[in-house]
Amino acid sequence: MAGVLNQKRSFDGGFSCQSETHFPDRYRNLEEIFSRSDRSYSLLGAGLSYTAAGFGSHSDSVSLKDFDRILSFDSQAGEIEVEAGMSLGKLAQFTIPRGWLLAVQPGHPSITVGGCLGADVHGKNHAKDGTFKNQVLSFRLFHPDKGWITADRQTNLSLFDLTCGGYGLSGVVLSIKLRLTAACQKVRMQHHSLASIFELPKVLEELSAKSDLLYSWHDFSSAAKQGRGFVIQGVFEPNIERSINTDPGSEFHFQPLRSIDRGTGLPNVYSNLFIKFLNMGYGHSMKRKIHKVTSENLFESTFPIAKKTIYFDLFGRAGFFEVQLIVPSDRFADFSKAVLAYLQKHSPVVTLGSAKIFKGQANFLRFSGEGICFGVNTPQTESGRKLVEFLNGLASELKLKQNLIKNSTLTSEMVKSGYPDFEAFRTALNQWDSRRRFRSEMSERLAL
Ligand SMILES: Cc1cc2nc3c(=O)[nH]c(=O)nc-3n(C[C@H](O)[C@H](O)[C@H](O)COP(=O)(O)OP(=O)(O)OC[C@H]3O[C@@H](n4cnc5c(N)ncnc54)[C@H](O)[C@@H]3O)c2cc1C
Repeated sequence: MAGVLNQKRSFDGGFSCQSETHFPDRYRNLEEIFSRSDRSYSLLGAGLSYTAAGFGSHSDSVSLKDFDRILSFDSQAGEIEVEAGMSLGKLAQFTIPRGWLLAVQPGHPSITVGGCLGADVHGKNHAKDGTFKNQVLSFRLFHPDKGWITADRQTNLSLFDLTCGGYGLSGVVLSIKLRLTAACQKVRMQHHSLASIFELPKVLEELSAKSDLLYSWHDFSSAAKQGRGFVIQGVFEPNIERSINTDPGSEFHFQPLRSIDRGTGLPNVYSNLFIKFLNMGYGHSMKRKIHKVTSENLFESTFPIAKKTIYFDLFGRAGFFEVQLIVPSDRFADFSKAVLAYLQKHSPVVTLGSAKIFKGQANFLRFSGEGICFGVNTPQTESGRKLVEFLNGLASELKLKQNLIKNSTLTSEMVKSGYPDFEAFRTALNQWDSRRRFRSEMSERLAL
């Protein structure tokens, strides 16, 4: 099966290259690709990681997009086995009408199940549901030198651990068996106001146990506002009954997303003035919702950005930076003071500030742990780059975990400071695959 030479770009616009991509659609084709050469390969889901985690200049990519079938579904137990290229949107269209939902889902329906496993993503209530790995019962993996292997928490546990959050470096996951949670028809939404970012940890802590979805939005258009904002809370309304309605209908509509198309032909339009007006408008619309309970459909509250993808286009072709890190709650006030002081002095454009609460521990390079998961977006401009340098420096100094899949400027030194298991992950990977058949721009940049 010959590959196709095509242009690729990370979603944040931070890295692009031309490389070959193979599109197997049968298991036999997949085996053939690897049998023909000793090259290194990278594995592509939807390619929506902000960094180049599924491709690179020194490897051919293998796209899993044509492996997107449902293999089995147990409607009583709430378990489903799907191929790894299935998108979250397609999965939700099948499970929601049947009364089931994947508890941990990132923000866009075009993202694939394989990509969620590769980056061990988080959803909208990490404190309650943990990461994607918690939803994985087992998977089937192909490695060119080892063949087909099934892994779960009893069989091949070390491979299970290395692959969930292993960034596609241990082999090709072809199918995944997932645990589902009871879905609902409507989500009860409440909005809580924050006078400043310093109130955030307490509010998130109080609400996390009684919420199904929980995240914050902050206005950083002027440091004088002290990162004021809102906490958005969603609670699943108990299901009236589990009805089988397989008509996808309008409730599942969304704007598809592709990295290569983001911001095509546009310059960056975000400036401090523009953000000030946008935040003012958004703030007013949110204020009207305070002390009110509204009802939203489940698909829209699971993927709030799915109909607002213009947000990413307005960064233009050049793109944006995201820094997302976990700050222990008892250090969040000092961290916030340092960030606000920087914003006050340098006034970079911050298009988004948002946070979630995380609980638990994690080994290897999984972006998980205990504290406040805090993220900001800024355009790829000189002042944006300087803000990212400042945040990277602060994260290294405080030994914070950064989300590897979101920040294309990370180096291995920065990652080592936040992840005590950095070397343990590398060692386990090299023991599993001494020839290192899988690599990407991200794995090379981080010397994984
Ligand atoms: C709008 C938007 C919102 C987002 N929201 C969140 C969020 O709330 N929480 C969060 O955690 N992330 C979030 N993300 C990031 C996103 O969930 C992850 O980057 C995810 O990994 C992207 O999946 P993908 O299908 O695009 O995979 P890719 O980006 O193509 O791949 C991701 C990684 O998984 C590996 N991989 C892919 N398929 C396989 C396979 N079959 N076998 C083995 N490895 C594989 C790849 O090699 C790569 O290392 C968001 C991204 C976007 C664009």
